[in-house]
Amino acid sequence: MVAVITGGTRGIGYAIAQKLLDKNFSVIITSRNSSEEAETLCASNPEKAFFFAADISKNDDIESLVAFAEEKFGAIDLLVNNAGVAPKERKDILEITPEDFDFVNDINLKGTFFVTQNFVPLLAKKENARIVNISSMSAYTASVNRGEYCIAKAGISMITKLFAARLAEYGISVIEIRPGIIETDMTAKVKEKYEKLIDGGLTPIKRMGKPEDVANCVAAVADGSFDFCTGTVIDCDGGFNVRCL
Ligand code: NAP
Repeated sequence: MVAVITGGTRGIGYAIAQKLLDKNFSVIITSRNSSEEAETLCASNPEKAFFFAADISKNDDIESLVAFAEEKFGAIDLLVNNAGVAPKERKDILEITPEDFDFVNDINLKGTFFVTQNFVPLLAKKENARIVNISSMSAYTASVNRGEYCIAKAGISMITKLFAARLAEYGISVIEIRPGIIETDMTAKVKEKYEKLIDGGLTPIKRMGKPEDVANCVAAVADGSFDFCTGTVIDCDGGFNVRCL
C-alpha cells in the first residue's frame, strides 16, 4: 500500500507519515522544504519513505510530484491532502489584501483541489483507493482575524463533497478530517491563548490535540474502517463541534 502525504515533513502530516509507516504503508511525503525529522524518517525507512520537494500552489510542482509517485510505485492507495498554511499575519477581514487572500487560498484551497485532480489517475488504478482531506474546525467557525483561512477550509469541505460524488464510480472514497486545536508549529504562537480558552471550557475534552490524534483518524480510514463512507466528516477536535448550553 502506498500513501502520498502533502505537508508530511512537520506537525500533523509528519505524524500521519509515521503512523502509516507503522501500518506497513510506503509513503511519499512532500512539502516545499525538507526537515530534519523527514530526513531521518526517510533514511531509516529506505525503499519505504521518500521525500519529494513540491509547492502545491504550483501546477508544475504537482505534475512533477505525480510523475515521481508514478515512477516509484505506478499507483497509489491513499492521498492525504494535509499541506496548509496559516495567514502570515492575522488581520481583520476589513484589512486583508488580495495578496493575503491569495497566499492562503493558493496553497490551502487551490493546491488541495489540483493535487486531488492530478492524482485521480494513480488512485483509480487501485481498488478501494482513498483520499483524506485535512480541513479544520475553521471550515464552519468564523474567525474574523483570519477569514481567508476559514474560507479556504470551508472550500475544502466542498472539495470533499465534489470529489466524493465524482470519484465513487472509480471506487475512490473521500473523507474530510476536521482537526480542532492541535499542538504544532502552526499553533505555537497562540498556544497560551488557546490553552486558556480550553481551561475556560472551549472544548469538552480539556486539552489541545496532538498530531497523533489526527494521525489515528487517518489510520482508521487507511485500514478500510470507513469504506462505506464517502463525503463524510470526522471531527477530531476534543468536542469543539458540540454546541453546549
Ligand atoms: P505545520 O506544522 O505548519 O505543517 C504544515 C506542513 O505543510 C509543513 O510540512 C509545510 O512544509 C507544508 N506546506 C506548507 N505550505 C506548503 C506548500 N505550498 N506546498 C507543500 N507543502 C506545504 O502545520 P500543521 O499544524 O501540522 O497543519 C497541517 C494541516 O492541518 C494544515 O492544513 C492545517 O491547516 C490543518 N490544521 C491544523 C490545525 C492545528 O491546530 N495545528 C488545526 C486544524 C487544521 P513547508 O513549509 O516546508 O512547505
